[in-house]
Amino acid sequence: MHSDHFECDTSGVRLDFPFQPIADSDDDVRKLVADAAIPPLLASVAHLTGDLSILTEGLRPDLARLLEPDNGYSADQLETARNLASGALIAYRDRGSLPAPPPTLEQQRAIMDFLAGGKADDELVPLYREELALDGTDHRAPSWSKVEVAGDREFVVGIIGAGMSGIVAAHRLRQAGVDVIMFEKNNDVGGTWFENTYPGCRVDVANHFYSYSFAQTGHWPQFFSQRPVLLDYFRSCVEQFGLRELIRFNHEVLGSEWEPANGTWKIRTRSNGVESTTSVHALISATGQLNQPLMPDIEGIGTFTGPAFHSARWDAAVDLVDKNVVVIGTGASAVQFIPSVAEQAASLTVFQRTPPWLLPVPQYQDDLPDGLRWLLNHVPQFARWDRLWIVVRTQEGLLPLTEVDPDWPVSEQSVGPMNDFLRQMLTAAYVDLFPDESIRSKVIPAYPPVAKRVVLDNGSYARALQRPNVRLETTGIERITSTGVRTVDGVEHHADVIIYGTGFQASKFLTPMTVKGEGGVDLHERWAGDARAYLGIVVPEFPNFFMMYGPNTNIVINGSIIYYSECEANFIVDSVRMLLESKKKSMVCRPEVHDAYNVLIDEGNRKRAWGASKVNSWYKNEHGRVAQNWPFNMIEYWKRTRSPNPNDFLLS
Ligand code: NAP
Repeated sequence: MHSDHFECDTSGVRLDFPFQPIADSDDDVRKLVADAAIPPLLASVAHLTGDLSILTEGLRPDLARLLEPDNGYSADQLETARNLASGALIAYRDRGSLPAPPPTLEQQRAIMDFLAGGKADDELVPLYREELALDGTDHRAPSWSKVEVAGDREFVVGIIGAGMSGIVAAHRLRQAGVDVIMFEKNNDVGGTWFENTYPGCRVDVANHFYSYSFAQTGHWPQFFSQRPVLLDYFRSCVEQFGLRELIRFNHEVLGSEWEPANGTWKIRTRSNGVESTTSVHALISATGQLNQPLMPDIEGIGTFTGPAFHSARWDAAVDLVDKNVVVIGTGASAVQFIPSVAEQAASLTVFQRTPPWLLPVPQYQDDLPDGLRWLLNHVPQFARWDRLWIVVRTQEGLLPLTEVDPDWPVSEQSVGPMNDFLRQMLTAAYVDLFPDESIRSKVIPAYPPVAKRVVLDNGSYARALQRPNVRLETTGIERITSTGVRTVDGVEHHADVIIYGTGFQASKFLTPMTVKGEGGVDLHERWAGDARAYLGIVVPEFPNFFMMYGPNTNIVINGSIIYYSECEANFIVDSVRMLLESKKKSMVCRPEVHDAYNVLIDEGNRKRAWGASKVNSWYKNEHGRVAQNWPFNMIEYWKRTRSPNPNDFLLS
């Protein structure tokens, strides 16, 4: 359990909630509340003041109307809700800003039910309680301790990677009193947020949800914070959880091998050129899916004589000012850095092979408005209820809009009526983003929305593409030359600098490490380019081996990847408990369980836009199978990972 008021002594994002009594005038309070969405505003004010009468039936959100402006609330409803909230806050101020006693479980449930549009049933309430973590209570903390379960049995877990998912796995294991050693190839924590230093790098899931349920903070400066803020957040978590001393920095794991006689994994690492080995009793790979940059297979790539780099290896020493820059790729990374490059360069040529679908999000780069900052400072639980509101909105997210309708003629346009509705909605937005038809026709995708990753834009990418010094090139690339790029029409495009925004080797999970399980079987040979796992976590023949963000755990359009990592960590920690309680040395997933699960996953993915569409994407592996994505809603993953079923494993 963590205190809400813990303050880190590092310079990172503080993991606490600011709290000040209200001293503002009636008029100011009325104005300030207008910046918040109605459901979390009313929920947090009811929580603070104890006045649940403001949660009226007529103000309950209608979850079917979330895509409408103001989440479908009419002007009258907005006014009524804001009057109720500001009235209750003014009365609270006049009482000396003394919070009501914390809501009882029953009252909490009533507030949840209001926020969830009346859908907080017995199944969802425990999940919502975990995600809310009211008053800093960590409902997902392990309820057992190693010392009680396995006395003084020696048991060490090795974790590869100190990024977002490695941190949560280590923290949970430490909470249970299990010994942990972490191996990190970089000299700091943070994984993707450490490595991606390109300008404009930011998260595209709202911060209050893109953060651990058990380490929430009221200090996010923006709705979608930038990379330095996120890196600070993860650094702060590592300090607060006391993990730093468990991490062997600058240690790249080269390979690991199961040693059946001892029931251990031998991990081979390299640090400063020196190789060494360490044995652990269980091994967790937390290396991420988007970790190994993919340089494109374009002829002549090595012949370019100027500076060239990949977006995930941004070379800040290369001055782009007044240079002729070429960018290859228009995925989520390129869309984030192109506006900054366009501002600096003399000329920028963007090579687009397949345009991404752009989802307009006006507040994408905005600071939190005054009203939200004020609520975070004066309504102590606002951040938590706001987080739950994001959970409710994204538990399905746009998932229903990706569904394949068997009666719909699946085409290059859409895979079902809902998907077609999304296509029309997004297409309409392009008229404002790209008023000039000649460029608009190049950037509207010719594949169903969400078949590839949708990219958020507040208009900054669209504006960048339309600057006079920027050219969008859609002619195919023939080769890279010593001076730039030659397209298939024979035109030479001069470049002083080439930037590759060409993505990652996402389907090559755990590359370039080797992992050898029972009888020396090699994981990559077993997978043969088609990575699979049970729950994305465990693989038959690989005892005591677990993955975080493994096969088929990537989210496309619903939830936050941190949520999935928390689910995986819970499952793994409970698996360790099961193993320790059994007094056995090893646990390994039964092949039939793994295979049946994968049938289900494949069926699920075939019914989604990204599975049905023929468009290329990093969601598919070399066999054309969707090996990355989770096809169902986020609740389903939580249910399946709540605890391991002993019948799914062989213990020996
Ligand atoms: P990506 O989505 O895989 O995009 C790679 C781009 O390079 C695509 O436009 C691709 O074109 C192009 N490309 C690759 N090889 C090419 C070639 N030989 N010739 C021409 N073009 C080529 O990679 P990414 O942009 O780095 O994003 C990867 C993932 O990272 C995202 O989907 C997302 O999950 C994550 N990410 C998230 C954020 C965030 O907002 N938080 C930001 C950045 C990245 P095709 O489409 O035709 O293949």
